[in-house]
Amino acid sequence: MHPEHWIRTDDTGLYCKALNAYIDPMQAAEHAIVTHAHADHARAGHTHVYATQETLDIMAIRYGEDHAKNVHALKYGETIELHDGKLTLYPAGHILGSAQVLIEYGGYRLVHTGDCKRQSDPTCLPFQPINCDIFVTEATFGLPVFQHPPIEHEVQKLIDSLKRLPNSCHLVGVYALGKCQRVILALRALGYTKPIYIHGALVNLCKLYQSYGAELGELIEVSMLNDTSVLAGEIVLAPPSALTDRWSRKLPNVLTCMASGWMQIRARSKQRRAELPLIVSDHSDWNDLITTIKQVNPKEVWVTHGREQALVHEAQKMGYKAKALSIVGYGDGDESAIDNKMNTTANTV
Ligand SMILES: [Zn+2]
Repeated sequence: MHPEHWIRTDDTGLYCKALNAYIDPMQAAEHAIVTHAHADHARAGHTHVYATQETLDIMAIRYGEDHAKNVHALKYGETIELHDGKLTLYPAGHILGSAQVLIEYGGYRLVHTGDCKRQSDPTCLPFQPINCDIFVTEATFGLPVFQHPPIEHEVQKLIDSLKRLPNSCHLVGVYALGKCQRVILALRALGYTKPIYIHGALVNLCKLYQSYGAELGELIEVSMLNDTSVLAGEIVLAPPSALTDRWSRKLPNVLTCMASGWMQIRARSKQRRAELPLIVSDHSDWNDLITTIKQVNPKEVWVTHGREQALVHEAQKMGYKAKALSIVGYGDGDESAIDNKMNTTANTV
């Protein structure tokens, strides 16, 4: 039976009748498959959650151990029977624990990417192209104008700026989950061995990444310092919401930087008041979206969220049957209101 008979969208998100489960539901659901722990995909209050152990660990940090009545940890590549169908998770290359969802039912294979990325990222396993009939993909950066440079190139700009302005405190806005740890690892890979200073809202997730083997080097929480004047000439990472709030005013001689895929758009970097915009994205850019469709080579392409129409049009030009699902509510990971609220209310300073 064709998946259009057993997959539908509603206010809660994408519902799979064959599994009797939602994928990344935006409201509490009986059965929730959670692709990754960014706040716009992972919510608290589900009865059953199916996700990788890493995703469940992050959800426990953010929402408490009791975020769901029952949790079911799946290993990548492990297949379970759920309701009338089969469920398997595969690496999506987006952040630690991120997964694509393979659903098998009625003689069809449907893969949902969740958020995904093809650029190398030492904090998670690389995206794995999975053979399928229906390929359901995101399109956050689904316009030809979006071309993400290699992260080393962008992070080198930060190191060069520190050399040029040795007395400036380089305050870098990073999303707490994924971006923060990736920027730190890129700095280390480029030979930056000094301590990196972090906002309190980043501490717990950095510790979790370290427990999963990320070699982040020496991190010092800014609130542990008696005298913040020592931060002149240092790198300080903070959630984007902290860049312009009271917290940042105690830092000396601040140069505001922001690491985000949106920094390619001048208006967005102005909005963030980023003096040094760094284009660092945890999503596929246009070319990587197209390459991925070619590699997976499905019968049909469905686009969940982002710039759907451009990607649908391109997939049709490539000879695929394609349509937009236009699911609203997903953004660019931690940029959601929920997280900004969390970053300023939880673990402040
Ligand atoms: Zn995400």
